[in-house]
Formats: sequence, C-alpha cells, structure tokens
Amino acid sequence: MGSIIIIAPPAAGKGTQSKYISDKYKIPHISTGDLLRDEIHRGTELGIKISKIMKSGSLVSDEIILNVLINKIKNLDSYILDGFPRNIYQAREYERLIHEFHKTIDKVFYIDLPKEKSKERILSRLSCSKCGKVYNTAFEETKPKKANICDDCESKLTERDDDTEEVFEHRYQIYINETKPLLDLYNKEKLLYTINGSLDKMSIFREICSVLEGDK
Ligand code: AMP
Repeated sequence: MGSIIIIAPPAAGKGTQSKYISDKYKIPHISTGDLLRDEIHRGTELGIKISKIMKSGSLVSDEIILNVLINKIKNLDSYILDGFPRNIYQAREYERLIHEFHKTIDKVFYIDLPKEKSKERILSRLSCSKCGKVYNTAFEETKPKKANICDDCESKLTERDDDTEEVFEHRYQIYINETKPLLDLYNKEKLLYTINGSLDKMSIFREICSVLEGDK
C-alpha cells in the first residue's frame, strides 16, 4: 500500500475516517491540522507564527506545511493523509517528493457533503482539551455522555477556534477555490473514489474498506 489521501469539506469526517482506517489497517494517520495544532499547544516559534492564520481559517503557507510533513513521512511507506494536499501546488510537490522517495499514492477518497451539512456539523463540533477526542452534538452517536465532558478522560470539551460561522464561510470558500480542483487532478490519475458523506460514519467506513479491499 502507498499513501491514502482523504479530501473533504470541513467537518465531513476526514479525521474520523482516517482514524478508523488507521486502526483497522495499522497504518499511521497523519493530519496536517493536528500537527499544526500541536505546534500551537507546545508554544513553539512556528506555533506562534501560525496561530493567527489558523484561527482565521486561511491556509498556512505551502512551505511550512511541506516542511512539517516531510519530517513525518520520510521514513514511512504507507500512511493516511488527512488535510493534505489542500491545493494543486501541494499536490504537485507531494508527487515530486514521493517520486524521489520511490513511493506511490494508493487511493484518494473524496467524502462528498453539501455545504449546509458541513456548516451544521462545524457549529456543533467539540473536542477534548486534554486528549483531543472529537465529539459532535448534532448526532446521538457522537454526543458526549455528559454535556461538555470527555467520555474518556473527563476533561472539559471546547470548540475549535476556527469552528465559528464566520470562519466557516471563509474556510468553505478556500475549500471550493483551492482544494476542490484536486478532484479533477486525481480523477484524471484514476486514483479518486467518491463516497457519500451524508451516510452515517460506519456506512462511510464500510464503503472505504470495500474500496481498499478491492471490492469496488
Ligand atoms: P484541519 O484540521 O484539516 O481542518 O485544518 C485546520 C487548519 O490548519 C486549516 O484551516 C489551515 O489553516 C491549516 N492546515 C491544515 N492542513 C493544511 C494544509 N495542507 N495546507 C495549509 N494549511 C493547512
């Protein structure tokens, strides 16, 4: 297996599905958003630099992302990329890079979700301030058992700084203008599989598994 790429609008379940794939197939899950949030939590020089950009919903520079990513993937063959690439430049640079390392892209999944659903989910998303577990109060199955408390570690749940209505509109526009054109690129390369993101998360996962296991 080479790398698996997941493309989706905000809150369509990129992170959840990546985690499921990672657990089932025992391959690392690399989320560029998580790597950046980690830099911010640790208060590194890079974290200070990118915090404002992330809060505004804009994309961090390609140079920063590629640097952060290279360090993570250079010794890995198979992994799931969640949140990368976000634009054509990143996709081209990534292809150049893996070619250099004699690696391949295995499959690209597009989780398709209408804008209104994406927005509804963004505005009801919460995550644990300590362990990072993500909840969504829009669905019974993803609500925390106790309001605003993490089921696993009992810490307080908080909203992401970039999960506000205003920031959503900005992020969504960037997704349409910069990220969605990747679908054409990967479709031409015959790597793209589209999954209906309005399905429940286990049905989405089953679809992904059947593609990965060659039934589709
Ligand atoms: P995510 O967790 O994937 O929703 O990403 C959260 C934020 O991190 C984005 O809104 C961007 O500011 C930044 N980010 C994550 N991945 C990338 C990327 N590949 N390129 C540029 N910025 C990114």
